[in-house]
Amino acid sequence: MQDCLFCKILNKEINSEIVHEDDTCVAFKDINPKARVHLLIVPKKHIDSIAHMEEGDEKIMGHLINVAKKLAEQNDCKGYQLLFNVGREAGQIIFHVHLHLMGK
Ligand code: 5GP
Ligand code: ZN
Repeated sequence: MQDCLFCKILNKEINSEIVHEDDTCVAFKDINPKARVHLLIVPKKHIDSIAHMEEGDEKIMGHLINVAKKLAEQNDCKGYQLLFNVGREAGQIIFHVHLHLMGK
């Protein structure tokens, strides 16, 4: 996606603090953290939002949750929230699906 901020971050065209990368996803620090640990876990496949998932994408989403769990452990989170904003009305501002990990 040419004009997608997160595609640009994934392609390293825009700088971010990447904390994890594998074949399926990248995780980086949120630029405006709302918790002690606030990471965004982002699939390499461009999907606009959960509302735009296609057949088979649930495997990618499951992987994001698994990565979030590992990153929470690595960051010694006592507890954490996992959040997908879906749609502008729910506060989604970046239309490349991403899982927020917000940890205590
Ligand atoms: P949304 O509201 O779409 O679920 O979340 C988008 C998140 O992306 C927000 O928490 C916002 O702070 C973060 N964000 C927006 N622009 C950038 C950026 O250029 N770099 C990083 N690292 N995070 C960003
Ligand atoms: Zn994208």
